[in-house]
Formats: sequence, structure tokens, C-alpha cells
Amino acid sequence: MKAAVFEKTGERLVVRDVAVPVLGDDELLLEVAFTGICGSDLHAAETPGVLPPGTIMGHEFTGVVVQSTSPDWPVGARVAANPYWVCDTCAAGGRCEGGADAACSSGSFMGFRPDLPGAYADYVRIRAAQAIRLPDNVSLQDGALMEPLAVARHAVDVCGPMQGASVLVIGGGPIGLSVVLMALDAGAAQVIVSEPDPNRRACALQVGAAAVIDPVAEGLSAALTRLGVGSPGIVFECVGAPGFLQQTIDIMAPRGRAVIVGVCMTEDRVLPRAAIRKEATLKFVLGYTMADFHHVGRYLSRHAATAAAMVSRVVKLDELPEIFDRLRSEKSLIKVLVRAGQGPAT
Ligand SMILES: [Zn+2]
Ligand SMILES: [Zn+2]
Repeated sequence: MKAAVFEKTGERLVVRDVAVPVLGDDELLLEVAFTGICGSDLHAAETPGVLPPGTIMGHEFTGVVVQSTSPDWPVGARVAANPYWVCDTCAAGGRCEGGADAACSSGSFMGFRPDLPGAYADYVRIRAAQAIRLPDNVSLQDGALMEPLAVARHAVDVCGPMQGASVLVIGGGPIGLSVVLMALDAGAAQVIVSEPDPNRRACALQVGAAAVIDPVAEGLSAALTRLGVGSPGIVFECVGAPGFLQQTIDIMAPRGRAVIVGVCMTEDRVLPRAAIRKEATLKFVLGYTMADFHHVGRYLSRHAATAAAMVSRVVKLDELPEIFDRLRSEKSLIKVLVRAGQGPAT
């Protein structure tokens, strides 16, 4: 089969022939339909020491079962997958030492190690327990948005009730936009998005944001005052770069809640006193649970067309290495999907 393989930091991915994965017990081989290119993949590929050579990335995918060693999943089933590969103890129904709840701390995400290849490939192997059946009216293409939407669903769930609230989302990339959708789904009265890129701001309005802010042109605080929101009680930080944690603390209302979804990979400075004065609640989130995926599946069966506004382009596997590099600098591209495999597209 063909796969886009990571060879070396700073070098372009290489599309080449690799072996089709071999199944163990209770596993599924999917012919990949669509795979989303994720910001984490871009980060991993450019940060020295993160990805071993030979890694096949791609953790946001849908496909059709072409081989199954699970009694529960027939050939032909259309599925998305939770790409988190739990440890063998948790997979056998036990609970490993680190497993506080659904999250097994000894597992890892598919697509970041050579022994857990992802779906920048014609075929991908998953455990049956990772599969989520796509609702009949959700296409394989729209289903590829399930993973980023599940990240957002998890963040919104962890945040707690937001019925009738004004919510600020900092960062209008795929995760920020997914948070807009999931916050509105959870009953937020209005969601405002702060994002410097004009294309991403336009997309935020398309997916339902009440207003957008260009933080470079206007400044976040001044814009929120102009919009009559003042200090929002709920803030989602979806950038993950130095300075944004402090900005979140500074902008939020006293006793407000903030969820830190963006993954900042370097040290960052904050002034704790600013958060203390507000008795601010800051929550940090990672990943999702199977319940988040099932929630998103139901959501997509009602609102797939709205979520699909995030997709800027669909490319073939051969075109992946080039667009992968372009995504670093072209912020006007939002979510790019790769059409891998030769199977059905719907
Ligand atoms: Zn992702
Ligand atoms: Zn475990």
C-alpha cells in the first residue's frame, strides 16, 4: 500500500510503498477514506526528537472495514475511530496503574510512533474498541471531522454548564472553530472568536460565531467592550503559544472559567496573582473519551453541513507532502483532508 512516511525533521514527507498492517485479535483493517491533517502533525514533524523516522502520521480518519477479527464489526462497516491506543491492560478490560478514568495514561495516540501507524495511508489498523459507526446520513468525508470535534466536545464537557453564556474562543483554527460548534450545541447564547487571519474569521461566522475580533487590528479587550460583552465568563484558549495563558487570565471575568485547549510546547510565564485576584478556574484538557465521539456522531447527523465549512480543501495522498508543508505558513487554509485509499468516498 501507499503511505506518506515521515523520515527526518525539516524534510518533506515521502509517499512510498509500505506493508499493509497485519491484524491481531479483535482488530479491524480499514481502507482509509479521508484523513484530516492536524496541527499536531505539523508540530510533531518540525520539532526535533518527537517523531522517530518511519512514522506514518494521521489520526483523524474514516474508513470502511475490509478485514475484521472482531465478531462485532462486519466487513463493509463505515467507521471513524478514536485514535487513542490504550495499553494492553486497559484493552483487556483492566485498569492500568495510571488510568484515572477512561484515559489510560500508558497508551499513546496512533500516528506518532512507527509501531502505531496512522492513516496517511491506503489502509490502517485499529482495535475494534476504537471504532465508531458512522450514522447512515454522515458521509465518510464529514466523518473525518469527528476527531477535532471530539477534542472540542471534551473541552466543552469539562468546562461545565454554559447555557445562555457568552463564550470567548481565542484562536480560529480547526479546534477553535470546533469549539464554537460544540459550545453552541451545549447551549451557549453567543460565541465570539478572536483570530488574526481574515479567512478563519469568515469561517467562524459561517459556523455560527456571533461576532469575530481581529486582535491585531483592534485589541481583544477594546473589541469585547465595543461588542458589549466586557469580560467573558467562559474562555477557551485554542492557540497554544506563549502569552495566551496570561491573555486568557487577563480577559476573563472574576470567578470565570477558562479551558486551555491549545498545546503550548515551550515554557510560558504567567502572573499567578492576576488569576488569584479573580479566583479564576483554569482547566487543561487532553483528547477525549468514546462518549465524546458518540456525542459528535449524533451531532454530525444533524449538523454535518455546518461543520463541513471548516474544510478548505481535499487532496490526494500524493499531494499530501506538498500541502503539509504549505499548511505551516498558509493560515488561510483551515482543515485539509486527504483522500486516501481507493474505496467509496461516501
Ligand atoms: Zn488532531
Ligand atoms: Zn492503561
